[in-house]
This record gives sequence, structure tokens and C-alpha cells, in this order.
Amino acid sequence: MFIDSSSASSASPKSGRYGDLRPPQIDAIREKTPIAFVPWGALEWHCLHAPIGLDSTKAEGICLAIAEETGGVVLPAIPLGVNTIKPFKGFAHSIDTSADLAARVAEEICIQLADESFKVVILFTGHYPPEQIDALEEGARRARKMAKGTRFLVWADNQFLGDQYVGDHAGATETSFQMFFDPKSIVLDSLPDRPLTLDGDGVMGDDPREASVERGELQLKVVLQNVVPKVKALLEEIK
Ligand SMILES: [Zn+2]
Repeated sequence: MFIDSSSASSASPKSGRYGDLRPPQIDAIREKTPIAFVPWGALEWHCLHAPIGLDSTKAEGICLAIAEETGGVVLPAIPLGVNTIKPFKGFAHSIDTSADLAARVAEEICIQLADESFKVVILFTGHYPPEQIDALEEGARRARKMAKGTRFLVWADNQFLGDQYVGDHAGATETSFQMFFDPKSIVLDSLPDRPLTLDGDGVMGDDPREASVERGELQLKVVLQNVVPKVKALLEEIK
């Protein structure tokens, strides 16, 4: 798999999953690159072919790939989706979260990471209806008032897909990411033999049967091309 999870076990990794690191490893990473990525996900219906945690898997996989390039720590994905497809279109297998709760969690995590001496915190969401973005922005706004020495940003993966790909819901783009990060979790054969719709199937975007592992890898490359320079610029600014 693309993500080298073994880096966390080496003596002084450049990046790693926050919860898998020992304190001296965190100190070493933070001294070099005081950035924490907080992948934000959801638990929601992604049609019959994909797991309900797709947004979390996607956000976490992308954050780990960014951190491998830039350094930094990656927190566990937070599965608190605001305005999931349950209130939007009535699909079950979706745990909907209030905007207030998501904002509060975002605020507290941001403040705690600042207290842990991280100078940049990126809330990176794989679930991005406007209500979700607003809730995370609200959490970040409150954190900025409390922790003035840390930069808090809210990014979503669909901002970084370039001209070639479009963010979707359970469509070819999301399904390709999921296939790349966890190939066995996608079962395209479980889809009905007809065109898929938003109202009937909860799919937005191109047909997921156009997805592939290779496309997921290309999408990740595009995201990294667009994000990594931004992260490096932020790290220069806080030096
Ligand atoms: Zn999704």
C-alpha cells in the first residue's frame, strides 16, 4: 500500500499517526514540523458498493500522504458528519451530527493541539457540504481567539482535485480514493444493473463503475501537487 505505516515505528520518523507515536517521537516531529492534520470524516450511506466510513478513510489517507511529504502528525479521523445524506435524501446507515457539536469538537481539538505546541492545525475534511465546512470554520474561528500562536485552517479534498477530477458522493472520484486506500472494501458487483441516481441510490457524480485503484492513485497525486506547496509555504511563514 502507498502509505508507509512503518515510519511510525522507526526511531525518528518524519511523520506518523499521532496515536501510534511515543512522546519522544512526537517531540522530534513537532520540533521539525509543528503541524497537525485532523482528518474529518463521516459515517454515512455511500451506496451499496462502498463502506459508510468512506469520507474518514479518504481524509485520513490523504492526510497521511501529505504528512509523508511535509512531515507532521495525523490524528485519527473524526467521524462527525453534518448534513449527511440522511437528512438530505433520507438514506439510512448514516449518523448525522449537529453543526453545534461538530464546531465544539473542532474548537476543542484545535485548542488542545495548540496547547501541545503545534503551530499549524489543518482540519481536513472528506465530507464537505457547506454546513460541514461552516461548522469546522466556526470551531477554527473560536480557537483562533483562544490560541493566538497557532494557525487553524479548514480544507476539503475537493478543493485540491484540479481540473481533471470533481468531488462527488459515492461516485467515481470517491470510489477511486476508497479503492486506492482500501481496495477490498469496494464491491462494484453489488450495484444494480442500471444507471445510478441521487434519489434512488444516493450517488452524486460520475458512475462509481468508472472508478479504479489507478484513478485513485492519480487523484492523490493531483491533491498532493496542489496541497504540499501550500503546507510548505505555511511552515515557512511560521518559522
Ligand atoms: Zn463521501
